[in-house]
Amino acid sequence: LDRLFITHIGALALPDPARTGVLNLPVDVIHDTWLEIEDGRVKQIGAAGEPKPPDSTAAALRYHAGGRLATPGFVDAHTHPVFISWRSGEFLRRIRGETYQQIAAAGGGILSSVRGVRSATVEQLAELVRKRLDRFLELGTTTIEAKSGYGLTVEDELKSLRALHTAAAAHPVEVSPTLLGAHTIPPEHRHNPDEYTTLVCDRMIPAAAAARLADAVDVFLEEGAFTLPQARRVFEAGRKAGLSLRIHADQFTSGGGAALAAEFGALSADHMDHTDEAGLKLLAQAGVTVVLLPGAVFFLGLNDYAPARRMLDNNCRIALATDFNPGSCPTQSLPLMMTLACIKMKLTPAEALWAATMGGAYALGANDRIGTLKPGYQADICLWVADDADFIPYSFGNASPEAVFKRGKLVYRRSSAPTADLIQ
Ligand SMILES: [Zn+2]
Repeated sequence: LDRLFITHIGALALPDPARTGVLNLPVDVIHDTWLEIEDGRVKQIGAAGEPKPPDSTAAALRYHAGGRLATPGFVDAHTHPVFISWRSGEFLRRIRGETYQQIAAAGGGILSSVRGVRSATVEQLAELVRKRLDRFLELGTTTIEAKSGYGLTVEDELKSLRALHTAAAAHPVEVSPTLLGAHTIPPEHRHNPDEYTTLVCDRMIPAAAAARLADAVDVFLEEGAFTLPQARRVFEAGRKAGLSLRIHADQFTSGGGAALAAEFGALSADHMDHTDEAGLKLLAQAGVTVVLLPGAVFFLGLNDYAPARRMLDNNCRIALATDFNPGSCPTQSLPLMMTLACIKMKLTPAEALWAATMGGAYALGANDRIGTLKPGYQADICLWVADDADFIPYSFGNASPEAVFKRGKLVYRRSSAPTADLIQ
């Protein structure tokens, strides 16, 4: 059966796909309603105050939502899930005062994850990614962007992308893979970063594109990572290979990434914690989605959160993502990111929900398919024991959905959630 009614929805939150500038109230809410889903997409939404559809004779599954809140599944537009080991050992060192950069310089940080990935098989990596996809689903995330970037050789980057494909093929969470060969300069190229950039541009990017392993190319523009001229070369190679472009920029220092992303029409510019007003205007004009990553700012014990309100004032489109990775942000919870965005960036709960759903969909170039539950959109749905969506960021560190649907199929539920019944 490919037809499902979700009835008795207490409140249905519908992020508005058209509203992308100053957001204010970017989420429409319909109270006491139902959804009809056909072939994995929303076909029809009931009127407010109409908890179930008029009787239908057609056989269909029916799911009694019992007054629960329904939201779109989250779209996490920035994750690094292809790694072997957690880096909890660095946690104590950072608490005692070492910086992320000092730990990296001493052989920890990204390079310790690189050692893990290089020594792993594709199956080992895929099995770990699969478990992490399970956790995303439990936290309400139904689509992720996922980066390689802990291999840093042609072979190990392609292996990481293959692990993503293998894990995603057998999992309800949808994955959009990104090649992040330009994550950091590996030790064997430290003496000549330009030589490594050439390897990324001339061999890694064309190989990933030829094997259809990546949707996008990403580069980390930062002191100690890649320079602006090197990032430009990566963008040129990505564009030549026909891939979408992303950039990690302005995380610790301001480095011209906004102008580069705008010039190349990048799909997303991520972090942007130190972007100036001129940069924000360029991003807005070029329609580049800014991916906000407050979890990394929080977990590194920093205080410079991205200027989200100024971004909205400048008509930037924003997304909210986790930056899930073993070093600077080991959480997979978008509800927790919503809390940080509200408290630290002064987004309203509705703006945070918009950014974690519709904003993420824009950052994936999938805004005509996911991110809301208007008719025609994919039926990726979370049900919550909550009266309204403000409860999600309010319920700080506690919020997770009770049931999750992907393309109209019930793919996760807690034991307290109803099961679907067949009706005639
Ligand atoms: Zn990142």
